[in-house]
Amino acid sequence: MQQRFRDAFFGISRLLAGRNGTDKLSIFLFILSLIINMVNSFIRAWQPSLLLSALSFTLFAFAVFRTFSKNIQKRRLENFKFENLLKLLYLDKLLSKIVYSAKNFSLRIRYFKTHRFRTCPNCKKLLRLTKKRGKREFSCPTCGHKVKVRIWL
Ligand SMILES: [Zn+2]
Repeated sequence: MQQRFRDAFFGISRLLAGRNGTDKLSIFLFILSLIINMVNSFIRAWQPSLLLSALSFTLFAFAVFRTFSKNIQKRRLENFKFENLLKLLYLDKLLSKIVYSAKNFSLRIRYFKTHRFRTCPNCKKLLRLTKKRGKREFSCPTCGHKVKVRIWL
């Protein structure tokens, strides 16, 4: 099961060669689509519900299209405009945080079998540790801060 999952993951990264891949705009569209879907599950009236389903699906489809698009220049320009808009609305820092944790999450899944992740309390860098149970102390490779960790599982 695990092996098959990993094969699928690497299969996807091979598939993405020469494509745009996931950028901020696509991640934003994916998350927005998910939120609309969740909100929609609480709506009973079928007409607004249908409208929201269509909207959620359109956003999702556009995000998928952007990820696999070969017109990288055009997609980069879209993403650039989107980031400028965020700056205008003072939302750029918030979205960066969300994208950062989404990427962390995918790293955690990717290395689930062999590694665990912790953040350095001093410089906030993400540290990848070998999966070895128990307490450990080491210096952060970026800032040299002594980090104590305990890995349970
Ligand atoms: Zn550090």
